[in-house]
Amino acid sequence: MTRQVLNTVTSCADPEAPETLTVAAARERILQSVTPIETVERLALRDGLSRILAENIVSPMDVPGHTNSAMDGFAMSGEDLPDDFVNLHVIGTAYAGASFQGTCGSGECVRIMTGAPMPDGTDTVVMQEQTMAIEEDQIRIGDGHRVGQNVRQAGEDIALGTVVLEAGRQLIPADLGMLASLGFGEISVRRRPKVAFFSTGDELRSVGEPLEEGELYDSNRYTLFGMLRRAGAEVIDLGVVKDHPEALSQAFTEAAKVADVVLSSGGVSVGEADYTKLILQKLGEMQFWKIAMKPGRPLTFGRLQDALFFGLPGNPVAVMVTFYQFVQPALHTLSTGKPYLPFTLQARSECKIRKRPGRFEFIRGRMNQTPEGTFSVLSLSQQGSGVLSSMSKGDCFILLDASCDGVDTGDTVTIQPFFSLV
Ligand code: AMP
Ligand code: MG
Repeated sequence: MTRQVLNTVTSCADPEAPETLTVAAARERILQSVTPIETVERLALRDGLSRILAENIVSPMDVPGHTNSAMDGFAMSGEDLPDDFVNLHVIGTAYAGASFQGTCGSGECVRIMTGAPMPDGTDTVVMQEQTMAIEEDQIRIGDGHRVGQNVRQAGEDIALGTVVLEAGRQLIPADLGMLASLGFGEISVRRRPKVAFFSTGDELRSVGEPLEEGELYDSNRYTLFGMLRRAGAEVIDLGVVKDHPEALSQAFTEAAKVADVVLSSGGVSVGEADYTKLILQKLGEMQFWKIAMKPGRPLTFGRLQDALFFGLPGNPVAVMVTFYQFVQPALHTLSTGKPYLPFTLQARSECKIRKRPGRFEFIRGRMNQTPEGTFSVLSLSQQGSGVLSSMSKGDCFILLDASCDGVDTGDTVTIQPFFSLV
């Protein structure tokens, strides 16, 4: 009796068989294809928030510009500090913004306010609370002081000529303040990446349209819009495109004309209406991978004229997972010219998670900070790649790599908070 064997493994010799890549290998290949944006824009300082600095910022001055007092008190020469106590003659006052003009001699001191430049002849400040008024122009100080105390040296924060911010840095509020402290009213930043995207699927309707039997609202364009905005991209929404080769070819061509990166969602599997690969092959260069991950297994990647192209899967969770794992790193390198490093934390699993080895799984979880300051995480009950509410209820991915064969309650797992993906 012959036994029929059902072949479920694709042969390596099959030229049509896509390679199966690890998440890290796919990301690496994508990042190798990225050429960072060099175009520069000049902006008013405030408009530079969250933008990518295009040039090294060299300090044109010392900050602070003058050696000054860190306290309200009395400035004097350290040589006058006593072993027991001493009375000093107060010869004037130094204010921040109105310095004392004279020179302070031996046996003298100057009343000084925080931030006021240190008068000539002084190098030490004694706090007001540590002095005793003897007469109107005389104070007494005791022992226990140190030469040079309570004084901020010129250039202590930033020295003239040092590189304070490097090209490729994303500007944070502290940077704006620092740039202002150096007198910069304008800065050069890199142009934002332009990203055009469209959804594919005959079953999709845009919000505002009535739904017929079997139809659903296009949600991917909204999640993509949100993720792209957070990633600092200029977004170009090209709407929903039908699963028709001509309509798709037109969308591909139009997108590549206006964007640095083109994203489509849907149509990358092996269904009859899945045209993405064919069209990319025809109009650009295609690489298609099966990635050993869940969700988000099939990914089309390549070039469409001068643009990078990502054919993301259609399932709403798979779109978000592949965006965060592949598109976001590519946009990061495109915008900053710097390598991408995922931000992860360690957390204690509050539950058992079943998994078979072989592929990387991105489990949606909710993280909690314990009273001790450590993190724990709970996996959400619904993990289907179409269950978008898991991304909305969740706040992190639990990263289970290919070798992991399940998690027990109490095990330590690696998590990637969604807030780090913006
Ligand atoms: P596909 O890869 O085109 O077969 O799509 C996979 C699944 O994702 C199907 O159930 C689609 O209906 C669904 N899907 C595709 N695109 C979208 C979209 N833009 N919004 C919501 N669901 C989608
Ligand atoms: Mg489809």
